[in-house]
Amino acid sequence: MVLTAWKRVYYEMDTMYRRGSLLRHPATARLLWVDVQDVAPFVAATAGGGVVQVRVFDEVNREPALIRIDRVEPLGPAPAGRVHLSSPLTQPYGIRNRRGAFVGIETGVAAADFFIPDTSALPQTFDDTYVEWRELSQRRSPRVPLLSAPDDPALLEFAWTWFDNRASADAHRNVVYLVGAKFYAGDGVGATWGAYRPVTPANRPPQRNISFAFNEWPMGTPLPALSARSTVHHELIHQFDPGGDDAGYHDTERAWDNSDQCLMDGAGRNRLDGMDELCREHLYQVRDKEDGL
Ligand SMILES: [Zn+2]
Ligand SMILES: [Zn+2]
Repeated sequence: MVLTAWKRVYYEMDTMYRRGSLLRHPATARLLWVDVQDVAPFVAATAGGGVVQVRVFDEVNREPALIRIDRVEPLGPAPAGRVHLSSPLTQPYGIRNRRGAFVGIETGVAAADFFIPDTSALPQTFDDTYVEWRELSQRRSPRVPLLSAPDDPALLEFAWTWFDNRASADAHRNVVYLVGAKFYAGDGVGATWGAYRPVTPANRPPQRNISFAFNEWPMGTPLPALSARSTVHHELIHQFDPGGDDAGYHDTERAWDNSDQCLMDGAGRNRLDGMDELCREHLYQVRDKEDGL
């Protein structure tokens, strides 16, 4: 008889608005404009003179009606501005903190509006680790802003603002959040706060089980798709971190089949060969990790 560990991990993956800006001031219902922190995306979108629509949403109200832009004007210190709307807002939007409500620009072409991390090869990556990854169906609208992250506190504040299950480790065993984002000034193209690495900002419950994959490095340069995919896999393996910090889980070992460096070699592996494989030691660590990530 052979007994082996088998884990099932659920990941929630959110689509993120590529274009738009955070609200600069709270907006009340019936208002015919919104003040945004950065007006440039709206100026660019309306430059051609065609019909351009926006959605104003926040972490509570994620599915408001589409509203057509009437005109755009710079207002306040650059790059702030005012976006005039053709019909009034139907509800108020607050800015509880600097990661508050967002105004997303819709072109009608989903690929142009959203960024979604590439997880197409996720099952193969974990074949040797007895881990099954399943995408969670989402009860709420999955739309969140695609933002640059200047530092760790901003990243965690973002997670706190936009994900309602993020702190309930007991109620959501083996659930991880995989979030696409734009650019990280912290340290590279991915970041993970795993179940074994809780972070507790002042006055906040622990942030848990969140992996970010950033699609630009350096700022303004999109990652190749294979590289982004490799980052997604690398960050999800960090969810199995046995207790050390992020860097402690990295190594310079060869992959188990000697095809490349281990997936957890942060700097030395080939991210573009489409093969994301672990070293023998990391395979054992993941396999031996008990449920309750
Ligand atoms: Zn790493
Ligand atoms: Zn390794």
